[in-house]
Amino acid sequence: MLDNAIDNLLDDRKGQVLETAPGAPVALRCETRSAAGSVSQRACVFCGSRVVLYPIADALHLVHGPAGCAAYTWDIRGALSSGPALHRHSFTTDLRETDVIYGGAAKLEQALRALIASHDPKAAFVYSTCIVGLIGDDVDAVCRRVAADCGIPVIPVDSEGFKGTKKDGYKAACDALGKLIGTSGDPGVPPAPARSVAGINILGEFNLAGEAWLIRDTYARMGVPVVATLTGDARVDTVRRAHTARFNVVQCSGSMLGLAAMMEEKYGQPYRRVSYFGLEDMAQALYDVADLFAGADPGMPARAAALVGAEMARVLPLLEPFRRDLQGARAAIYVGGAFKAHSLIKALRHLGMGTVLVGSQTGNKEDYQRLQQLCDPGTIILDDANPAELSRFVLEKRADLLIGGVKERPIAYKLGLAFCDHNHERKIPLAGFEGMVNFAREVHGSVTSPVWKFSARRHA
Ligand code: SF4
Repeated sequence: MLDNAIDNLLDDRKGQVLETAPGAPVALRCETRSAAGSVSQRACVFCGSRVVLYPIADALHLVHGPAGCAAYTWDIRGALSSGPALHRHSFTTDLRETDVIYGGAAKLEQALRALIASHDPKAAFVYSTCIVGLIGDDVDAVCRRVAADCGIPVIPVDSEGFKGTKKDGYKAACDALGKLIGTSGDPGVPPAPARSVAGINILGEFNLAGEAWLIRDTYARMGVPVVATLTGDARVDTVRRAHTARFNVVQCSGSMLGLAAMMEEKYGQPYRRVSYFGLEDMAQALYDVADLFAGADPGMPARAAALVGAEMARVLPLLEPFRRDLQGARAAIYVGGAFKAHSLIKALRHLGMGTVLVGSQTGNKEDYQRLQQLCDPGTIILDDANPAELSRFVLEKRADLLIGGVKERPIAYKLGLAFCDHNHERKIPLAGFEGMVNFAREVHGSVTSPVWKFSARRHA
């Protein structure tokens, strides 16, 4: 018999977990450092920086630190490129004991010059890791010297792993992007209203499995050019030109809202939060952009409505067989950003499924209030969870499926539970209208797999 898992939390975790009840949402403690001893599912600051910058495919990404930090490679987090693939290399200065004692700056400079000479990148990012923060290498000075000699931007990323949460890593990455944006020499776009559409930037879309291509194609069908995707399938030159777009749309709000706010202030580019997951949110993302451009192109809202209507008519019948089998199944969701969790709850409803647990690594107060409004009473909502909590709540709420990422997969499989990767390792795009069909197929395939009848959980 399970104990009531919510009564058995670590004391320091109690404000970050709740069970929804009828009535007004209550405040969940969030955006704090992980509780000591909790073994958080969150990654470190360096990891947060790298996931944001890594998809820039023609840049050099050099991890200044021990080789172990650089183990987080392209092969763990896919980031597809339609051209160059320099980002797939995992370069590191491989700091050793003697470097810790005598300093690693000389090694960094040597590595940077050698790598730039051999790979001819358009820019270089240098990621500081924990040990660099401790020994105090002057990374900025090295980057300045190498940039002046080699004639490309060499940008330090202040991502020492210990200095905050993964969200601080996102901020360090956005600061680095901010140094590139606006350096192409192109004039910015005059503020709306104006006659030309001028295009958008998509912020927080990392093209893990080709989503950026799907989304760009859909916007192109509406008549909206995409100037830059930050950072899925990005190039240094498109990032430098990002200040020429009229608007920003922000998909992964946890990582990129800060950059969107900076670009609004510096370049006069208003932004909207959007999600491309699930049918309603994908449709809304198209309507929102059409509204933004309605002044410059009055026919765009009608084109967006026609496109959404055609896609809904195509996709809804494809979902029906999956829905028949999945009706009444229960899902648990644990993802990086809470905005994605909102979309997943709605997408699961299209498949006849309820959500019994939902949590995120980086949600904010408004995200969690919205989650409470979206979820049925009795749903567990949790911020910055650990494996023990996820395991116990998943069992207590009798979930049939866990949706998560690379760190949640083993939890599901150890419990004998269906799993859908909605993060780093997936190879199939789950965004857009076609992505919803892929999502339904994945969920159906895992939940209805005969393998689960051999699960120890089922026989417990
Ligand atoms: S926590 Fe520090 S040592 Fe560990 S991977 Fe992150 S930067 Fe490297």
